[in-house]
Amino acid sequence: MPDPIYCPSAPVLVTGATGYVAGWLVKRLLEEGYTVHAPVRDPDNSDKVGHLEALGADAPGRIVFFKADLLDPGSYADAMAGCELVFHTASPFTSKISDPQRDLVDPALKGTHNVLSTATQTLSVTRVVVTSSCAAIYGDSIDVAEAPNQTLTEAQWNETSRLDHQAYSYSKTVAEKAAWAIAQAQDQWRLVTVNPSLVVGPGVAAAHTSESFNLMKQIAGGAMKAGAPPFEIGMVDVRDVADAHMRAGFLPDAEGRHITSAETLSFADLGRALSAEMGGQWPFPRSELPKWLVWLAGPLTNKAVTREWAEKNLSHPWNADNSKAREQLGLTFHSVVDAAAEMVQQMADSGQIRKR
Ligand code: NAP
Repeated sequence: MPDPIYCPSAPVLVTGATGYVAGWLVKRLLEEGYTVHAPVRDPDNSDKVGHLEALGADAPGRIVFFKADLLDPGSYADAMAGCELVFHTASPFTSKISDPQRDLVDPALKGTHNVLSTATQTLSVTRVVVTSSCAAIYGDSIDVAEAPNQTLTEAQWNETSRLDHQAYSYSKTVAEKAAWAIAQAQDQWRLVTVNPSLVVGPGVAAAHTSESFNLMKQIAGGAMKAGAPPFEIGMVDVRDVADAHMRAGFLPDAEGRHITSAETLSFADLGRALSAEMGGQWPFPRSELPKWLVWLAGPLTNKAVTREWAEKNLSHPWNADNSKAREQLGLTFHSVVDAAAEMVQQMADSGQIRKR
């Protein structure tokens, strides 16, 4: 890995390089000796790019920054010139939004049109890997019961998210659908998507704004000490997600969508496993609150927890089939509890949470 299907001297483009998931992908590419073209919103902001510059200094590869914005049409053209492989990871993953269309859907959807139409105009590009999500496969946990064998596969699409309910999932669904439509309208490059579940594990930088970090801060920082909502979801180590991108980008026969999810855990399962691994002095959740209590009180304490969300997501089993990623990409999944423990330790070491 990787198989030399591209000219080794051709640069590789990574959108969203400053992000949590992309950090590990950039690290892998630099370790393999590639020149990474990193179009970012603010290349002069050392808080955003300093950790990537440090990676470039320590690895055989090289990183070159460009200025681009998902909402600025054509702004990825300079960075993409001469690239054969494009990784499009940039898309907001946050619950801190005031306008879901402006803050989530526009950057996801217009950004996909922007980056992928530039790929079509850049004749060197032969493959585009888009970071989609399991959120483009299902909307609410209750939908999983409708899937054949109550298990999500790459054949399903999220048909239930809306701008006013699960807006992030809606943004990922319309963006991935647009990516396939753009890909099918041309024959210069092949589209491959990576569809991770909830990504956990340490960051290349100690702090990221990704919702993965906000959620782990709640789980490890004591917000669920009295009990977690009865909620389960697939999880995956961030380094396995980077590996999935590498394989989706470099394996000659990689095609289609790839559910990238290692195992399903409830928040209480995760809290108990972290307590066993890290010791009992951390304020992890060890039990679950009753669904009716979260349904009743959740909306008063957290505006993301609506009654509709509670009804459709609490106490519903979550299953996804990861066999395509294992068999066709050759991906091996690592323990999500170990990854989460490393993430918690990193947060504690950098003063973001404290043992209590
Ligand atoms: P993240 O750390 O917040 O990364 C998001 C990236 O998108 C950042 O680099 C951000 O740049 C960039 N971005 C946002 N708006 C932009 C804009 N208008 N123009 C240019 N760049 C913009 O989140 P993440 O968790 O790594 O997510 C990365 C990708 O993985 C996303 O596509 C997300 O949907 C997907 N994903 C994540 C998870 C997960 O659990 N974390 C699961 C499934 C899929 P700035 O640094 O400038 O803000």
